Amino acid sequence: MFKLKISQKSLGLFLIISLLPLALVNAYWLRTQQNTLRNAAAHSQVMLTESAAEQVEQFMSTKVNTVILHSQTSSVQEFQLKSAQKEFLAFIQQDKDLERVSLVDIKGQEISAVTKNGLDTQLVDVSTTDAFRAATFLAGKEYISSVSFNEQQQPQVTIAVPLVSFETRQSLSSLSTAEPGLIRNSGDIKGVIIAKINLKDLWERVLSTSLGKNGYAYVVDGQGKLVAYPEPDFIKTSPDLSQTEQVAKFIEKPNVVNQPSVTTSEKNIKVLSVHQAIPRTGWAVVAQEPVASIFAPANQVAKVTIGIFIIFAIATTLLSLLFSRTLTRPIRALVAGTSQLSSGNLDTRIQIKSNDEIGILGTRFNKMADSLKLLILSLKAETTKLGVLIESVADGVVALDHEDKIVFSNVTATAMAGKLPIEVVGQNFLDVFDLSKNGIKFEMTNDSLYHLYKEVLLISFNKRLHYLDMIVNRIANDPSGIKTIITLRDQTDERELDMMKLDFVSMAAHELRTPITAIRGYLSLILEDEQTTLSMESKNFVDRAQVSSKLLAGLISNLLNVSRIERGIMKMNTEKIEWTNFVQGAVNDNRYNAENKKINIIYDKYAESITVDADEPAIGEVLNNLISNAINYTPENGQINVGTFIKNSDVITYVKDTGIGIPENAVERLFTKFYRVQGGIASGSGGTGLGLYISKSIMDLHKGKIWVNSVLGKGSVFSFSLPLNNNVEYMNAEKHMEEGLKKKHGWVTKNITR
Ligand code: ADP
Repeated sequence: MFKLKISQKSLGLFLIISLLPLALVNAYWLRTQQNTLRNAAAHSQVMLTESAAEQVEQFMSTKVNTVILHSQTSSVQEFQLKSAQKEFLAFIQQDKDLERVSLVDIKGQEISAVTKNGLDTQLVDVSTTDAFRAATFLAGKEYISSVSFNEQQQPQVTIAVPLVSFETRQSLSSLSTAEPGLIRNSGDIKGVIIAKINLKDLWERVLSTSLGKNGYAYVVDGQGKLVAYPEPDFIKTSPDLSQTEQVAKFIEKPNVVNQPSVTTSEKNIKVLSVHQAIPRTGWAVVAQEPVASIFAPANQVAKVTIGIFIIFAIATTLLSLLFSRTLTRPIRALVAGTSQLSSGNLDTRIQIKSNDEIGILGTRFNKMADSLKLLILSLKAETTKLGVLIESVADGVVALDHEDKIVFSNVTATAMAGKLPIEVVGQNFLDVFDLSKNGIKFEMTNDSLYHLYKEVLLISFNKRLHYLDMIVNRIANDPSGIKTIITLRDQTDERELDMMKLDFVSMAAHELRTPITAIRGYLSLILEDEQTTLSMESKNFVDRAQVSSKLLAGLISNLLNVSRIERGIMKMNTEKIEWTNFVQGAVNDNRYNAENKKINIIYDKYAESITVDADEPAIGEVLNNLISNAINYTPENGQINVGTFIKNSDVITYVKDTGIGIPENAVERLFTKFYRVQGGIASGSGGTGLGLYISKSIMDLHKGKIWVNSVLGKGSVFSFSLPLNNNVEYMNAEKHMEEGLKKKHGWVTKNITR
């Protein structure tokens, strides 16, 4: 796009405002002037041609009439030579334009002739001349020849008048010379008077009339042949003007009254011209003046005006330049200031002294620059703080753009990949960090604003494995272009510690299991051996030792299970189980313990047979856990209901008690490791807080659910669901199961050992 500066725009505006009206007025004035001049010139041309034509007409008429007058004298009529010569001599003396006059007989022989010098003795036979022939046979009354030149190169014309009687002349007086073809009765004509008339004076008079500065008149005959012209030599070089525009108009319509018009002259110049016909001779007077010369006065004034105009334009330009420069100086200062500011020079301030709006703008600009500087400095400080903060956090922090390319990263994060923060900028996050989860290459989902990925494995640059918790935060519409913030929390050390703990627990449990089994075996032997004689007190001690060793075995078994769950080596071996009978069996197994506490345990038997796919010992463990908990946490004389039902395609099994219930705030953590509700121990149970955790893990491995509904002080309902007779996916997992693991170690609950 064509861009203009303010100064250029105001200059243009100035010029338009000041000069355009001037130019328009000038053009209008010029036009009017030209019209006036043209009209004046046209008027003079019409006047001139009319008067010139009239002069010629008059001149010719006078000459012809004079000749006619002389033809009527009796001496001439009767060919009395002596008196006729006298007559002619007097005639030639009186008429200064008459060059020669002769009397011709009917045969065409000159009988007598006179010139300015007296009698002309050189009489000639004129019978073949146009003049004689016209006067005697062809033409009307009198004949006027075309213009010719005499020996002195002066223009002359020949007039021939037939000698007829007065009566004959009277009868023919209505005819004019312009009407040819009239054959006279030859008997009427006695002879002819031929007079040569010099036109020099006539032409001088006619042509001398001035017409403007460069205008002039000329005369052509009926064929367009030049008859009179201001420059005598021109007649000889270009006698035929029939092609000249104005003359051609005359030839085409000789009798039409003509109006002045612009035509091309005989000298190829644009002229204003007009013609006027001379009826007597059939000629025309043409007057013309060059258009340039007509308009010259107006053009002269126009030139002066243009001169003034140019001076005015220059002055206006200079003035407006000066004005616009003064006007735009503060604006230019503002422009320079803003470009300085945008290029980062925050100390830029501008000096505008004016008190107008631009002055206010300048002051505001300076204020804006002040606050911008403050803002940028505080932003920089904030950025620095943020940078330090991000750098000092122990977790890795990485920011990504919308294409998951790294925008920035702290040292903690890049150190995991063995790089510097500056090196990874612009690289794809997953190219820099070699991540995997559950054995397959890690991929980020894009569906939620917050996502926590646990146990993400990072293979670091030195091939060391890192276990990470990865928090992915998506930012919607961040103006800085950051789309994702990733926090990498290295859990490797904690995990290794956990593994060590698990290893220790597992090892201790394994080591303790053998002696406790032996102890329990020997205690059973003592009690069951009929040979053994023990005092009541000793028997009581052995009984208590057996109960304690049973609890200890249960604890060891639970610890072993927990370590298996934690290491992920606990596998399920599913089979079809007839569920109603299975549940009834579990209820019966616990009936003894319930009755010991005077608790009524009821099995709400389901009418139909139900089959589920489950690992029998494991699911039995769950059921036993729930029932024994219900017995443990229900006071004497309470009631426990166990039952199953089908909901949708799930088999729901519940254990309902009228026990102490569970406070609402404890429910959330109930199924976590080692969690026990406050007061649980006080209620007399020596539990470990592992039973529900193990049950939940078993249900997870069955892809089932476990949950609780409880009212504090009233009782609880623990429920779990299994798919109805459905070959669930975990069947495949069996192949990898450690064969006989469970059988070998046995499933031990805190209360029951199998
Ligand atoms: P333990 O019974 O060995 O302490 P559990 O994991 O089986 O461990 O149970 C965790 C805790 O949940 C118990 O300590 C007890 O406080 C609470 N609890 C479990 N079952 C019931 C129940 N039926 N009624 C009330 N509290 C219960």
